[in-house]
Amino acid sequence: MSTAIAPTPFAQWGLGLQRPLFIAGPCSAESREQVLATAEGIKAHAPQVKVFRAGVWKPRTRPGGFEGMGAAALPWLKEVKERTGLLTMTEVATPQHLDAALKAGVDMLWIGARTTPNPFSVQAIADALAGVDIPVFVKNPVNPDLALWIGALERLHEAGIRRMAAVHRGFHWFGRSPYRNHPMWELPVRLKAAFPALELLCDPSHIAGDRALLAGIAQQALDLNFSGLMVEVHHAPDEAKSDAAQQLAPATFADLLRSLILRQSAAEAHLRNELQEHRDLIDRLDEEIMQKLAARMEISERIGAFKQAHNIAILQPERWRQIMLAMQAFGRESGLSPAFIQAVMDAVHDESIRKQTSVWEKDRLATDIQGSVKME
Ligand code: PEP
Ligand code: MN
Repeated sequence: MSTAIAPTPFAQWGLGLQRPLFIAGPCSAESREQVLATAEGIKAHAPQVKVFRAGVWKPRTRPGGFEGMGAAALPWLKEVKERTGLLTMTEVATPQHLDAALKAGVDMLWIGARTTPNPFSVQAIADALAGVDIPVFVKNPVNPDLALWIGALERLHEAGIRRMAAVHRGFHWFGRSPYRNHPMWELPVRLKAAFPALELLCDPSHIAGDRALLAGIAQQALDLNFSGLMVEVHHAPDEAKSDAAQQLAPATFADLLRSLILRQSAAEAHLRNELQEHRDLIDRLDEEIMQKLAARMEISERIGAFKQAHNIAILQPERWRQIMLAMQAFGRESGLSPAFIQAVMDAVHDESIRKQTSVWEKDRLATDIQGSVKME
C-alpha cells in the first residue's frame, strides 16, 4: 500500500522556480576550471536554466572509473552560485555526503539511480534529513521497478520532505535498444498518475547515452507534460571524465532548448488535447511492444541455431501449448480477451517459426555453397 505523498509544486518552493524547470551541468565536477567554465557557458547561452547540477561523488557500476572529486569539489559549487546566481545541486548517497553537501550550502540534492533501489540507503538519507528542509529529487531505480521509486519518495516524505520531485532517467533493459537506458514511458506516466501533484522531470542524457538522440527524448518528455529537464552539459564534452558521449557543449544545449516545443502555460497544459496526449503515449507503447517483439525474435533465432546443432525439430507442440495456457491465464488477469491473446500469439508463433527456419536455411545455403566450391 502506498502512503499518500503530498509534494509541493515548484512554484511553492520559495526559490523562484517554475515549470518547465531546466537543470543543466556536467555529469561530474572534475576541476574548479571545468565547473566554472561550464556554469558560465550555461549562464551565457541558456539563461532559461535556473539550476546547476554536478556530481561530486560518482557511483560507478564497475570500479576503476572516475569516482568524482568528493567533498573537495563542493566549494566550486558555492563559487558557481556566487558568480552566476544559479542554484546548485549534487547527488548524495550516504548521510556523510548529505552532511558535507549541507555544510557547503548546496541548494538541492538528488538521489541517484543506483541508490534509489536500496531501501537501507534511502532510509539512512531520509533519517539524516529529519528536520532539514531542502529540495530532493529522486531518480528512478536502474531497473524498471516502480514500487522502489515510490518507496524512496515515501521514505523522504515521512522524513518531512515536501519539496520533492522525481527524475526519469530511463531503465536498464537487456534487450536491443538505441538508447543507453530504455525510456519505458509507461513507468513515469504511472508514477504521475499515482501522484498528480508530483513534479516529474526527465533526464534525457542518461536515457539517450548519445548526444545525437537527446533532442527526441527531451521533446517526448515535454509532450508527455513533464515538469522539466535535467541535462548533462560540459564546456568540453569530449574531454569529460564521465559520460562523455552524452554531454552537450553549452551552445549546443542552448540550440536544443530553442528547438523544443514548449507548452505556454499551465492553463494551456490543462486545455491540451487529451486525445493527443493519449495518442503520444500509445505511440511510445507501440514502439516498445515492437522492440520487445524484436528482442523475442532474436532469442527465437538463437533457439533455432541450438535446435539445429542438436538436431531437434523446430516445432515443439507441447511447449507451445504450455506457452498458450500461460498467456491465456495472463490475458484473463489483464482483461484481454481469449481471441485477442490467440491472434497475437499465433502471429508471434508464425514469425518465430519463420526466424528459426531461416537460421536452418541460411546454414543449408552456406553448406551448399561450400559444397559447390569444393566441387569446382
Ligand atoms: C548522474 O546524474 O550523473 C547520474 C549518475 O545519474 P544516474 O543516477 O541517473 O545514473
Ligand atoms: Mn552522468
